[in-house]
Amino acid sequence: MTGSSLRRLLPLVSLLLLLAALGFLSVSVQASRGDADPHYRTCVDECQNTGIIASNIISHCSSLENDSTSAGTSWYTQEALGMQWKQLNCMTDCRYYCMMQREEERRLGGLSPVQYHGKWPFKRVSVFQEPLSAALSVLNLLMHFTGWLSFFLLVKYKLPLRPQTKRTYYEYTGLWHIYAILSMNAWIWSSVFHTRDIDLTEKLDYSSAVAVLGYSLILTLLRIFNVKDAAARVMFAAPILAFVTTHILYLNFYELDYGWNMKVCVAMGVVQIVAWATWAGVTRHPSRFKLWVVVFGGALAMLLEVFDFPPYKGYADAHSLWHASTVPLTYLWWSFIKDDAEFRTSTLTLVKKAR
Ligand SMILES: [Zn+2]
Repeated sequence: MTGSSLRRLLPLVSLLLLLAALGFLSVSVQASRGDADPHYRTCVDECQNTGIIASNIISHCSSLENDSTSAGTSWYTQEALGMQWKQLNCMTDCRYYCMMQREEERRLGGLSPVQYHGKWPFKRVSVFQEPLSAALSVLNLLMHFTGWLSFFLLVKYKLPLRPQTKRTYYEYTGLWHIYAILSMNAWIWSSVFHTRDIDLTEKLDYSSAVAVLGYSLILTLLRIFNVKDAAARVMFAAPILAFVTTHILYLNFYELDYGWNMKVCVAMGVVQIVAWATWAGVTRHPSRFKLWVVVFGGALAMLLEVFDFPPYKGYADAHSLWHASTVPLTYLWWSFIKDDAEFRTSTLTLVKKAR
């Protein structure tokens, strides 16, 4: 196959890959079978009442009774909050030990793992509920930080600045700074959420992920259509911003609908991937090969998020592999962004010199 036909095929292949992913979405979003199991339910009830499960004593549960009298008469909200926190810990610990017990029974009976409350049975490590995903989230955070730092140093100190304004020649500097901040924010909450899954951390993780995805969609459109005029930028951004804000409010204050959120996120991801792939195919950008790798890698990685499978050895599930795949892609992505800044700067300064 020649280079040009490959280039023409690339957007099409990415689109097909992602449409296949979208088609399977409805299949992958299913209710959790684990927590519907009566054995599991009885186990959790008993554990919460007695604070004992097999040989484990759940200290959060056993101290609930003593505390309940004082918390009931107390004025102090801190005590009531402390009480709630204990109840929450008692519940999560009981769920965890009952899940592990039930999974061991299922394994001995030759049955495959099932999900509990929408999640696979992960083995804990210290305070980390999903240690691998939490660690990889931190790694992604570091990749964004180092990528952003080297981009910052490049545009600020290495590339020439506009003589009058002392601003960069590259027209997208500010937009990439915001992108870096939103990305790092998303990975911070991702690592917190995979460490401790409660209602609040879950909402923060989902909201931050939607925010960065929506923002990068705006940035994608502005870059590939070369939108430099402020008014035109607002026209591009406004409808997407309005939609993303509404979606975040919906998730937080109306319903955290996983299936719908997944569709929104995949749709926003697909548009970006197809847009970048098409652009990489038609443009003469010197770093378009980096873009191709990121686009293709991103499309394949997205399939991991859609086609879920239970954790290998209790640690590595599809979601954690997805977080692993974004580590090298993030490195390459920032490398492309830096190349783009250099490319635009050299084009603009050359034009200036030629005049
Ligand atoms: Zn995650």
